[in-house]
Amino acid sequence: MPELPEVETIKNAVEKFACNARILSAQVRQPRLRELVPADFAERINGTRITGLTRIAKYMIINLNNGLSIIWHFGMSGKIKTEALMPKTLDKHDHIIITTDKGIIIYNDTRRFGLVTLCESEKLRQHRCFARIGLDPWDENLTADYLLNKFKNRKTAVKTALLDQEIICGIGNIYASEILYKARILPQRKAESVTAEEATEIISYTREILSDSIKAGGSTIHDYKRPDGDIGYFQQKHCVYNKTGQRCPDCKCNIQKSGGIQKDIQGGRSTFYCPVLQK
Ligand SMILES: [Zn+2]
Repeated sequence: MPELPEVETIKNAVEKFACNARILSAQVRQPRLRELVPADFAERINGTRITGLTRIAKYMIINLNNGLSIIWHFGMSGKIKTEALMPKTLDKHDHIIITTDKGIIIYNDTRRFGLVTLCESEKLRQHRCFARIGLDPWDENLTADYLLNKFKNRKTAVKTALLDQEIICGIGNIYASEILYKARILPQRKAESVTAEEATEIISYTREILSDSIKAGGSTIHDYKRPDGDIGYFQQKHCVYNKTGQRCPDCKCNIQKSGGIQKDIQGGRSTFYCPVLQK
């Protein structure tokens, strides 16, 4: 599932490709995504100019010069492909094709959990998609006080609390493990046990890890003519995620004794951590 850094990367790539482009036509080949693509989607965006792109949580927003914005969520498997010219053959999972005067934007989604809809730009923040969204990782209101206040009296595990999109939006499962590893906090601890100092660390590592991932993504997508045509997917350098039994990068411990990186299941999701460094 594309997490915040992937969505930011896709957004940046589409912005580079299509900013100021005029939409010449749009075709919805399969409207049955997570919810139906509006029947008048093509009609309402045809002839408009793309004025810019933004991101809210894991949604890409394409702003148009007619006062509308396209809200785009990639679900489990959604991908954007950009092409200079219309491909001779389309994949059966290429569901939306937007033709602009700068090239073609193709939305491919094998599992069809994505969402593409329209909203008046001025009313974006009030849209139901964003009604229960917490602070963006880079929001200046995201402070240790804010986090401590949200974690107060919360008996749930700190890792589960980090995944709560109503507190901070955009921390996905992989990054929650990585952030807690860097902050040296055991993921099973209760959220309410987090100290002010640890809250500060959580925030700074959240920003650092997500920024690094965005940079890593950005470096793989400057060539739009990659054979597969996909943008926004890249190999991550994880410290603990999916590394059960291995020594973590900061340990000098004997993994025969320590067992190395451990895996736990919390709220149905995999968590990875170092039992030596994380307290
Ligand atoms: Zn370790």
